[in-house]
Amino acid sequence: MRIQLVHPEQANDYCCNVYWVAGDPGNPRDVHTLVDVGSSHPGTLDAVLAALSGLPKGLGRRPVEQVVLTHAHYDHAGALEAVAARFQPVVHAFQPGPRVCHLLADGQWLRVGSLDMRVLHTPGHSDDSICLFCPETRELFSGDTLYRISDTGGTYPACYARSLERLAALRPSVIYPGHGDPITGDAAGFIAEALARVQASILQP
Ligand SMILES: [Zn+2]
Repeated sequence: MRIQLVHPEQANDYCCNVYWVAGDPGNPRDVHTLVDVGSSHPGTLDAVLAALSGLPKGLGRRPVEQVVLTHAHYDHAGALEAVAARFQPVVHAFQPGPRVCHLLADGQWLRVGSLDMRVLHTPGHSDDSICLFCPETRELFSGDTLYRISDTGGTYPACYARSLERLAALRPSVIYPGHGDPITGDAAGFIAEALARVQASILQP
């Protein structure tokens, strides 16, 4: 499996990381996948489309056969209409929305690139947040579930802590977050820190 960042977040355009997860071009089981599509800002979309056009996809195959949205915030899903119109992918998300053709369920398996990944519903950052985890490689796409957890004073719902505890139990080796660089070193420590911050700021009932 090859994971390529096709649009790193830039200061002049608030956008998430967009990951292109390639399958083996010769394997019909594999599914070229975009994990999130980025914002609808014209510069963002152009950059994503330009990056995708040069990638090795295989004869007769579309570079984007599938989209998985980690959640529906605009910086992750804003470009969906344009990407869907261009590539006609199957679009997976946890909640219904325009262009979404398959609703994800917690625990289901999904072929992503050349690997089977597990869908985890991880509410907290948003109700519809999901993560993707591959038990074979222990790679984790975390969307915004691990993003800038720094607020204090009763900000977070209790389910957020449970979601982070689930991620910690997976013991991922690499985390591909929705913003910022991949975490390749102390992934466990990164999650533990997020969990401690959330636990310190749980919204009391
Ligand atoms: Zn978000």
